Amino acid sequence: MALSGLDIYKLLPKTNCRDCGFSTCLAFAMALAQKKASLDKCPHVTDSAREALESASQPPIKLVTIGKGESRIEIGNETVMYRHEQKFYHPTAIGILVEDTLIEAEIAKTISEINGLHFERVGQTIGVNLVCIKNSSKTADKFLAAVCRVASATKLNLALSSSDGASVSAGLAIIKDRRPLVICEDQDAIDDFINTALEYNVPLAVTSSTLDEASELTAKAKKLGLEELVINIKAKGIASRIQDFTFARRAALRKNIRTVGYPVMAFTDSGESPQELAEAVSYVLKYAGLVIVKNTKKEFIFPLLVARQDVYQDPQKPVQVEPKIYEIGKVTKDSPLLVTTNFSITYFTVAGEVESSKVPSRILCCDAEGMSVLTAWAAEKFTAETIADTLDKSGIKDMISHKRVIIPGYVSVLSGKLEEVSGWQVAVGPREASGIPNYLRGLR
Ligand code: SF4
Repeated sequence: MALSGLDIYKLLPKTNCRDCGFSTCLAFAMALAQKKASLDKCPHVTDSAREALESASQPPIKLVTIGKGESRIEIGNETVMYRHEQKFYHPTAIGILVEDTLIEAEIAKTISEINGLHFERVGQTIGVNLVCIKNSSKTADKFLAAVCRVASATKLNLALSSSDGASVSAGLAIIKDRRPLVICEDQDAIDDFINTALEYNVPLAVTSSTLDEASELTAKAKKLGLEELVINIKAKGIASRIQDFTFARRAALRKNIRTVGYPVMAFTDSGESPQELAEAVSYVLKYAGLVIVKNTKKEFIFPLLVARQDVYQDPQKPVQVEPKIYEIGKVTKDSPLLVTTNFSITYFTVAGEVESSKVPSRILCCDAEGMSVLTAWAAEKFTAETIADTLDKSGIKDMISHKRVIIPGYVSVLSGKLEEVSGWQVAVGPREASGIPNYLRGLR
């Protein structure tokens, strides 16, 4: 946990000598707490105080970067237990497992499926982030062949999982430029893995059955100079793993225990698709920085990505679309005009139903600060006056030949006032978006 200004003040010399540029040690301490000054401005701080302050200024959960360039993954560096306290910053990375026991054609087919696992949802592109090549064969040759095949067939980030340090080292020699995550499956081989990770400057995941064991492994790796670490909790049941993830998060954030202050990850154990999905979503909900799944089917991956997208959405900032006029289909000057708010889910739901109606239409999105229709109406962000103002300033009058606007059925109460203040003819549409296709077709 970050130190308060008073905590910092207690560690300063308290001489008020002003050499730091601040009038008192307390003022300097307050500036440090707000990250508006750096400790090196005080030349008189003792070594022990410096160590304590520098340690406290580190993020409680280390940020770990896997990969390079725009598609790199950043996990960790979270600051709260619960999303409503602030927000979660770095979305769980979703990886797919590829075992080196697969034959060449199976690997090619699997990677082709994985490369297609990206979707558009509420105006955002969501997709899987990583392919994990697992040394299930326990042989170096098969592992290296799989690494070469996967790396050449996908631009996604990579992870190498093995219990053999030499195999991983040979794999890294081939793909070191991709900065993959290395996963050490065997505690007895940890020394080899630490040396390899240091040599190639890649992040390392340590595997253990308990958090205590994980603490020992991360402490050892840190002591040898490795900073970017991930904790992989071995299979021992979903509930137990979630409990460990929660303990680790709490220990890092609330007690500042550095040895568990790293992102956590898991491989799913469940064999059947529905169970695996429930398991993977559970890990996303409960703090996993990385989840590696086996299933490559779109109907499995999409709901998992949607769950991640929703959990990592800033709860104080609804996803919004630009407030403007949207044209659906080949519109003419006579096409219907619907009005709604700029809450992303509202817009895309309405747009989807308009599209399925096959009636070319325009949707005028009012700036309601990203709220849904009823919420915006209750907050007085979607009123007769704001809709009239949007109709007036949007330029819609020059685009269409009529002055008829369709408002959502849930705000039918606005119709009279809107006609009065805007001079437009107001029609009340269906309450639910699912009623839009029939409604629009009925206008023909
Ligand atoms: S330089 Fe150090 S001792 Fe002097 S006022 Fe600033 S914080 Fe206090």
